[in-house]
Amino acid sequence: DQRLQKIASAIRVIPNFPKPGIMFQDITTLLLDPTAFKDTIDLFVERYRSKDISVVAGIEARGFIFGPPIALAIGAKFVPMRKPNKLPGEVISEEYSLEYGTDKMEMHVGAVRAGERALIIDDLIATGGTLCAAIRLLERVGVEVVECACVIELPELKGRDRLGDRPLFVLVEG
Ligand code: IMP
Repeated sequence: DQRLQKIASAIRVIPNFPKPGIMFQDITTLLLDPTAFKDTIDLFVERYRSKDISVVAGIEARGFIFGPPIALAIGAKFVPMRKPNKLPGEVISEEYSLEYGTDKMEMHVGAVRAGERALIIDDLIATGGTLCAAIRLLERVGVEVVECACVIELPELKGRDRLGDRPLFVLVEG
């Protein structure tokens, strides 16, 4: 697909952010290019519009940029998966490990019902730990995770292998 090349070149790589040795994939430059941004959303919508998905779960923070336009276009609800202590209502939470220490992801109780079909969206998969936590949260309340989708995959980190049998769809590799 010709659109993928334009999307890849609209993503900027910033060396040594947020710390030395990290090559940060920066999607804010993709957002500055309305054609490439629209193509990104369209590619996801084309893939998911006929998959009977009722929930788009977006991971804070950049899953909040890509998730809502996809949810609106496919007629699904949008559910934010947030960092701890941000959501005002009753939450369920899931801990996950980072390179140093742990973090937590939270979702509102009652946002989804058992038996719903979900798509999880984030900007990037690295080790896969973040997507795994989102999968566990949704599956704990009986939601079926149909697929995880990211704009960028860092294939060397083999995050895909951690997702078990839930499919992962990505647009470009970093
Ligand atoms: P993982 O849990 O190791 O797969 O890391 C993925 C999470 O870290 C996602 O929520 C990403 O937004 C964030 N992340 C890691 N590396 C980058 C990057 O280079 N650019 C943007 N986000 C990143």
